[in-house]
Amino acid sequence: MQYYAPKSFSEAIEISMEAKGITRFLAGGTDVLVQLRADILTPEVLIDIKKIPEVGDILQNSDGSWRIGAAVPGAQLNEHKDLKAQWPGVVEAMDLIGSTQVQGRATLVGNLCNGSPAADSVPALIAAGASVTIISPNGSRDVSVEDIPHSPGKTTLEKGELISAVNLPKRNTNGGDAYLRLIPRTEMDIAVVGCGINLSVKEGLVSDARVSLGAVTAKVILVKEAADAIIGTSLDDKALTALSLAASAACKPINDKRGTIEYRTHVAGVLAKRAAQIAYKRARS
Ligand SMILES: Cc1cc2nc3c(=O)[nH]c(=O)nc-3n(C[C@H](O)[C@H](O)[C@H](O)COP(=O)(O)OP(=O)(O)OC[C@H]3O[C@@H](n4cnc5c(N)ncnc54)[C@H](O)[C@@H]3O)c2cc1C
Repeated sequence: MQYYAPKSFSEAIEISMEAKGITRFLAGGTDVLVQLRADILTPEVLIDIKKIPEVGDILQNSDGSWRIGAAVPGAQLNEHKDLKAQWPGVVEAMDLIGSTQVQGRATLVGNLCNGSPAADSVPALIAAGASVTIISPNGSRDVSVEDIPHSPGKTTLEKGELISAVNLPKRNTNGGDAYLRLIPRTEMDIAVVGCGINLSVKEGLVSDARVSLGAVTAKVILVKEAADAIIGTSLDDKALTALSLAASAACKPINDKRGTIEYRTHVAGVLAKRAAQIAYKRARS
């Protein structure tokens, strides 16, 4: 195995373009190193991005939006008071990942690029309307988070492309977000279902919303019908029932040891209702 620790994105891209065989970027390593140790996947080329200066920064831009470097671990997000106050759903979703030790390393970008349909931070990022900055040999571009997952273990990133940062939009004063997941144990398990919701409230009515579900299809999805069910409502019982039905209708889950198709489909509706109520309360507070 060849290990590289480039000091710039251009160097990282160059190494990745020239790499032969299985190549992985190393952010926190909490997926890559576990897969390596368990003989699930042994990369021939490992490109550690942590020596690139910008990757450890959390910055608020002058327009109020946020830029979170690709190697920022969950623990650092959780300690950032302003980010947590503005995007509690995103920070809480990341905070659910693993243990204290895992939190010291695991990143949003690694969670997204590992390609798991059950990745906890991804529904929260999609609900938030987040994008990622992709750097490639042709330059850099911003892509919506929902366009990155492809199928279990796969993303839409091409050879030579890497993510430099996650971008969160400006939090408007009448907005709130939330992420909820169900796991069979109290912690350290994979979501049976995850649901992220971000919404805005004007004069008591939901003025816009985004709903995302994890672990119920082959990739994390944005569910427009679920958002449409609550826009223009005061999140009354009728709207919550419509939201729940729309969330369940979007599910095409698998049966496995964590849950049956019927259970996952039902839980998606329940979590959507509960996450919407938390987001609504946050938006109004
Ligand atoms: C004990 C334990 C508990 C866990 N619990 C959970 C949990 O509850 N929920 C959950 O969702 N996950 C969980 N995980 C999985 C893992 O911790 C997360 O997916 C984590 O966010 C991965 O981030 P990382 O930085 O460690 O990724 P890494 O292992 O560094 O990388 C993961 C993938 O992302 C790619 N990648 C990394 N950086 C970039 C980049 N800049 N550009 C493009 N691709 C890149 C790598 O090539 C690799 O394919 C757990 C893992 C462990 C070991």
